[in-house]
Amino acid sequence: MAILATPSPRQKQNACRLPARGRAFRRRLLAWYARHARKLPWRGVCDPYAVLVSEMMLQQTQVRRVVDFFPRFLARYPTLEDLAAAPADAVREAWDGLGYYARARNLHAAAREVVATHGGVLPERPEALRRLPGIGRYTAGAVASIAFGIDVPAVDTNAARVLRRALGVRRRPPARLWRLAEALVPRGRAADWNQALMDLGATVCTARVPRCASCPVRTSCVTGVRRSR
Ligand code: SF4
Repeated sequence: MAILATPSPRQKQNACRLPARGRAFRRRLLAWYARHARKLPWRGVCDPYAVLVSEMMLQQTQVRRVVDFFPRFLARYPTLEDLAAAPADAVREAWDGLGYYARARNLHAAAREVVATHGGVLPERPEALRRLPGIGRYTAGAVASIAFGIDVPAVDTNAARVLRRALGVRRRPPARLWRLAEALVPRGRAADWNQALMDLGATVCTARVPRCASCPVRTSCVTGVRRSR
């Protein structure tokens, strides 16, 4: 269920500053996502723990590798309590093959901390999520928006690339890009919006060669318009 938080004064100010091109970009991207969202095992999952597992696995790892690991890991540890109660060696073994084992240690430590200090219930707000091991600003935004419907951005490498190209802000420092991303989040649709940006960045607006000719947002994208001249 989407949580429609009252916008902060900064969000209201940012929304007023959102250029018309940004609004058209948002509308077109959401329409494209409604028809072309990638079918992934963690899409449509409402369990916050499962969303956290998917986001931890996706850190520095390609989606196609996580597709197989995600259901396997959840079959072994179906709940946050199961994971928290598991021995460290077993968790390490369950992560075997996915690499970057610090993520497994962090996920395990986060599960234990949630059990110890939050009664086994994952906190909803990004600020609280960021206090858990291994959860940075992106992961906190992704979990808060996807699992809890909170209107916050989640800017990973793909989303940052799309935003920089689409809004013509290539040199904008990360902190200012996050503020812009915050202004773009459509109220009540943060989960769709954040995942739409990820999908466009992964499939159309790719790192090496953006496919502007077939991009659904090209007419409201600074780079797309420039390239079509
Ligand atoms: S038009 Fe090109 S640069 Fe713009 S979002 Fe689409 S693929 Fe990326």
